[in-house]
Amino acid sequence: MKTIDGKLLAANLRAEIAGGVSRLKAEKGVVPGLAVILVGDNPASVSYVTAKEKACREAGMLSREVRLGAETTEPELLDLVKALNEDPAIHGVLVQLPLPKHISEKAVIDAIAPEKDVDGFTPVNVGRMIIGDDCFLPCTPHGIIKLIEFAGMDIRGKHAVVIGRSNIVGKPVAALLSRRETNATVTLCHTGTRDLAHFTRDADIVVVAAGRPGTLTGDMLKPGAVVIDVGVNRIPDDSRPKGFRLVGDADFESCAAVAGAITPVPGGVGPMTITMLLWNTLQAARRAAG
Ligand code: NAD
Repeated sequence: MKTIDGKLLAANLRAEIAGGVSRLKAEKGVVPGLAVILVGDNPASVSYVTAKEKACREAGMLSREVRLGAETTEPELLDLVKALNEDPAIHGVLVQLPLPKHISEKAVIDAIAPEKDVDGFTPVNVGRMIIGDDCFLPCTPHGIIKLIEFAGMDIRGKHAVVIGRSNIVGKPVAALLSRRETNATVTLCHTGTRDLAHFTRDADIVVVAAGRPGTLTGDMLKPGAVVIDVGVNRIPDDSRPKGFRLVGDADFESCAAVAGAITPVPGGVGPMTITMLLWNTLQAARRAAG
């Protein structure tokens, strides 16, 4: 069994992105700029946006951090998004989800200009991805494809099982895996699936994005399968300084005993999600620079 080192792949790609940023500065005088908006103080969201901002600066990009109180209203947030859409120094606009309950996530995402939608969440980008047009690919699903390739697997003709049908992970990863370039046969499983193990036992690739620890165990796998564990779950653990540890959706020990390759949590999908965000921001800046 091989552990798929998401940190290593992310570091390689980030070095490439930093090179692209330097060239864009030298050739066109343009510094890619990413605005990251956080509403409220959800601890997981705070740590995600901090990591995104740090990665952005390390790649030589401009990071505009906008932290707003949980009482921010929807019209206030929409006005901010509109202002950033029109700001020439900003090439990517990211609103960290989830938003407080009184704000419509759909309304806010819809307000982001498609050419600055570096998360790839707007209906325009999702539609372009589905029909195979040039677009910003959603970061986590794009990172997952890169990780499977990095594990040495030729995806074409393989059977991939995706567990989870969210708009940010499950559905887009299923769409990307079944594109002509990747050419996998995809089964999309969810809470309505009867006998999940029946499907996973036939899979060459399993992507698990359920948000529940222990969703995938070794007895559900075909020997040699590639497992991509997207889940990030906080488990109380008094032996850790923060009082918790992170685990994925796959039971690592039993899955690792059967899988050909598996991503760890942390250190698998997470670093790749941020890397593909930087990738999209660089693309957005290149397009704006002409
Ligand atoms: P979500 O809660 O929106 O969706 C979970 C999906 O899993 C649902 O579609 C549900 O039908 C399905 N599901 C749940 N339990 C199941 C079961 N037992 N069998 C079959 N299907 C089941 O979650 P999400 O936003 O897609 O996120 C999933 C996980 O991935 C979360 O832990 C989240 O924190 C994590 N995540 C990680 C990254 C990253 O960069 N590492 C990015 C996004 C999400």
